[in-house]
Amino acid sequence: MTSIELEIDELKIKLKKYQFEYYVTGKPIVSDREYDRLFDRLLELESKYPELKTPDSPTMRVGSDLTHELPEVEHTIPVLSLDKAYSEEEVIKWVEKTERNTGKSLSFVLEEKIDGISIVLYYDRGLLQRAVTRGNGSIGNDVTANVKTIGTVPLSIEYEKPLAVRGEIYLPKSLFAKINKSMEADYANPRNLAAGTIRRIKSSEVAKVPLNIFIYEGFFAEEEALSHVNNLNKLRALGFRLNSRTTIFDHETIGGQFNDLSNIIERMTTERPDLDYEIDGLVLKVDDVQTRESLGYTGHHPRWAIAYKFESPAGITQLIGIDIQVGRTGRITPVGRVEPINIGGATIANVTLHNQSYIDLLELSIGDMVSVSRRGDVIPAVEKVVEKSENSPLWHMPDHCPVCHTPLIQKGAHHFCPNHDCPDQIKGRIRFFVGTDQMDIRNLGPETLDVLLEKGMIKDIQDLYTCDFNSLEGSEGFGSKKIKLIQDGIEASKERHFSTVLASLGIPDLGKRVAQLLVQNGFSDIQNLIQVAREDNWETFASIPGIGEKMAKNFVNAFGEPQLLKQVQALGDAGLQMQSRDAELETRDGIFMEQSWCITGSFEHYQPRSLAETEIKQRGGRIVSSVSSKTTHLLAGEKAGSKLNKARELGLTIVDEQTFLTMIGQE
Ligand code: NAD
Repeated sequence: MTSIELEIDELKIKLKKYQFEYYVTGKPIVSDREYDRLFDRLLELESKYPELKTPDSPTMRVGSDLTHELPEVEHTIPVLSLDKAYSEEEVIKWVEKTERNTGKSLSFVLEEKIDGISIVLYYDRGLLQRAVTRGNGSIGNDVTANVKTIGTVPLSIEYEKPLAVRGEIYLPKSLFAKINKSMEADYANPRNLAAGTIRRIKSSEVAKVPLNIFIYEGFFAEEEALSHVNNLNKLRALGFRLNSRTTIFDHETIGGQFNDLSNIIERMTTERPDLDYEIDGLVLKVDDVQTRESLGYTGHHPRWAIAYKFESPAGITQLIGIDIQVGRTGRITPVGRVEPINIGGATIANVTLHNQSYIDLLELSIGDMVSVSRRGDVIPAVEKVVEKSENSPLWHMPDHCPVCHTPLIQKGAHHFCPNHDCPDQIKGRIRFFVGTDQMDIRNLGPETLDVLLEKGMIKDIQDLYTCDFNSLEGSEGFGSKKIKLIQDGIEASKERHFSTVLASLGIPDLGKRVAQLLVQNGFSDIQNLIQVAREDNWETFASIPGIGEKMAKNFVNAFGEPQLLKQVQALGDAGLQMQSRDAELETRDGIFMEQSWCITGSFEHYQPRSLAETEIKQRGGRIVSSVSSKTTHLLAGEKAGSKLNKARELGLTIVDEQTFLTMIGQE
């Protein structure tokens, strides 16, 4: 193999791996810029050496989001990606080339490029028959049940013939942080969360995430389509939700002059932060449908459209050091220290470097000049090295934990400190345990905990319950009032449900939802969990829907750890709930936490309607009497009126009685 062949091979393998993580798991392992850089390099090599271009190349196909866990169906329309441009000049050149190729002056439509999940909705005889992901462009995954939970997707339309529409499903920006937290997820941006959600097996889970949709293409069967604008108008009249922020470059009225384009791009770029959905560029499309057909398609994109991609805000700075953080589970994260730089309005001094593989990929050394971007416009990341520092070696993870000096071990892409007594792990564990989402022990903030640790008053979580707080009286910052508040908080934590205690122990994968799942499935006493671990019987855990093999094996390991057993014993002795007092109450608790529900229409099961209100309130939800942008869900019964329309307009999650009963486990 020549070095060029080798490079092409490597690029293809990398790109396919990145596509899987991006489209299927929703958790990309490299930035979009880095992905695009590799993609463009492959394009460049393939155009120089066309004999090395193979049909399976990522440049020849649509990046596939297919997963075999969901039913697969064939598309009846071409479902492709878009050709890309990174500057106005490239866009203008494309316009000129397209007019040259067709031999006429054309009208174009400029739309926002919504950064969400591509979806095709198939209608027939007036009903939504199927919702299918983009897949590999010819086969996609059937996610109809999940898409039906999106209130703005019409389930029926006044159009009898077959109709396919393309759209983008997205999660409003303003709801992202809250939803990420309530799902105990760690998605980096709304797009990834929406991607992860739409592929969930349980639609009742999807209904909890207020997804929304914009439709941007219609394929009307058996009739002559005139123009894109005409199609969009027809779609709007049928009740589809369209983005109104489009610009028409009408050849008749502006004579094909694109002088305005720069202004429009500039304006839309400036307005981007104010939108409640993410856009990653703009799309310019030929308006005339006949011309579109004559221009045709490549295996990757239509020749009648081009995406102008925004650059993520980025800047160039110097990497001045790499610090190592030890998390509560012992996971080591290298964090880059950079010369402070202002990017997109925020001063960036630290950037995440994830793990050694990421650093290897960048070939990073301290002293390098690096390009830093705010990925997804939020989390700062090093994108690439722009200038190598002289004589500085490539950075390597130390062999030992910088805090406790224990030799590090590697699991997958990450390094871990295996010492359970590592001071930083202890600190992380205690902070996690007392946090508002766990045991919620007030007045024990990080500074107070640091004092307790420094004074040697606590060495781990269980010591919080035997610690003599009164001995602090007179120390700086510890008046009798504060001490009393801490003691009250500690006392109150003894009343937390068993599932909350379980989720606060910091066992990997065992968050609140999983803890409730365990309780729901008969694990109402911690001794049951310990027994299963003793028998090394992970299959028992894995038989619970929602718990996979990997998670089950993790639990068997965790509940067999002597340190955890000692901790559980001590916490139980201190009076914490190690058994569920009321399993039903526990599992009912919390699924609607931080949600705001409005109820409308009449119901079969809930007469009077206040019975439904009670169900929501019991699970932590709030009831509101009218629909507003702050409402998250509408429970809509029969003959729902104006509230339903308003909820649709606002893109709220609309739940019917049947789905609601499923959500609360009564169906
Ligand atoms: P794309 O960015 O090339 O755009 C095509 C998609 O845009 C279409 O499929 C459609 O769903 C969507 N779209 C949104 N609004 C639209 C509108 N108004 N009209 C038409 N289409 C519209 O998408 P792609 O092909 O899925 O992905 C390629 C890009 O995704 C890469 O350039 C990269 O930025 C990113 N990516 C990143 C990684 C990673 O690991 N970070 C991996 C794969 C892809």
